[in-house]
Amino acid sequence: MAATIIDGKVVAARVRQQVGRDVTAFAARRGQPPGLATILVGDDPASEVYVRNKRKACAEVGIADFHRHLPATASQAEVAALIEENNADPRVSGILLQLPVPKELDGAALTARISPDKDVDGLTPISAGRLAQGTPGLRPCTPSGVIELLDAHDVALEGAEAVVVGRSDLVGKPVAALLLQRNATVTICHSRTRDLRATCARADVLVAAVGVPRLIGGEHVKPGAAVIDVGINRLPEGLAGDVDFDAAAQRAGLITPVPGGVGPMTIAMLLRNTVTAASLAADGDR
Ligand code: NAP
Repeated sequence: MAATIIDGKVVAARVRQQVGRDVTAFAARRGQPPGLATILVGDDPASEVYVRNKRKACAEVGIADFHRHLPATASQAEVAALIEENNADPRVSGILLQLPVPKELDGAALTARISPDKDVDGLTPISAGRLAQGTPGLRPCTPSGVIELLDAHDVALEGAEAVVVGRSDLVGKPVAALLLQRNATVTICHSRTRDLRATCARADVLVAAVGVPRLIGGEHVKPGAAVIDVGINRLPEGLAGDVDFDAAAQRAGLITPVPGGVGPMTIAMLLRNTVTAASLAADGDR
């Protein structure tokens, strides 16, 4: 069996187009567009690229840009004050503190100061609690992107055996919670899982979020399964996922490539979250 390849660029482009229409409609209704405040502390080159890409994507769909760049010497109190300023600013619908912050700062404590209603990264403890309890809230971007890819290909989640490899707060746990919310039967694997291969081989939906290149081989894949590879591993020969794509594609029904699978979804879902946050704040329907 040769798997159908899930094209994340196509799905992400569709989400971005819809967000663009939603931004236009919001601005017409409210007189101003949704706004995103990106906060970058210090000069980490990778973080600068990530923030630049997010701002560019916002500009493309008409989301207003409230970027602030603080020096690496900024204190915890200064960053906290900027977050509070954005929490109070009605033009700012969403706040994104780019992580990691310089090591002198406590990134988790700063993230926790973001108003949960503006938490477009979905990473505050309150957002995590809302997700765990299944109450309305902003969901983390990459995990939402995983669900969007599955939905775009009409993968049946209700009652499906879903296996998530990885239990980070950023990816594994929220993906598992979102799959559970969709009534999948969810198993979470991690570094202490006794028989990873056998557990994965049960999965109708297999999500790998590990950070170990090509950990998931063909023998981990149930024939016909949907395989979503969140991993991004930089190797001398280029990017690799957590899934051995060539081997897994022989058995899977659907599979994401790396790059070009989950990667493009993260920013698309950030844009969607920003519009969602703006709409909830404006319409007060929470
Ligand atoms: P992380 O915080 O390092 O978590 C990795 C998880 O994998 C942990 O739960 C760990 O288990 C588990 N693990 C490690 N080795 C394992 C093994 N041999 N067998 C089974 N489980 C194992 O990583 P993360 O932040 O979740 O990111 C995971 C991957 O996704 C990375 O490659 C990252 O670059 C990528 N990523 C991509 C995007 C995107 O936009 N596409 C976004 C975020 C992350 P323990 O908990 O037991 O240690």
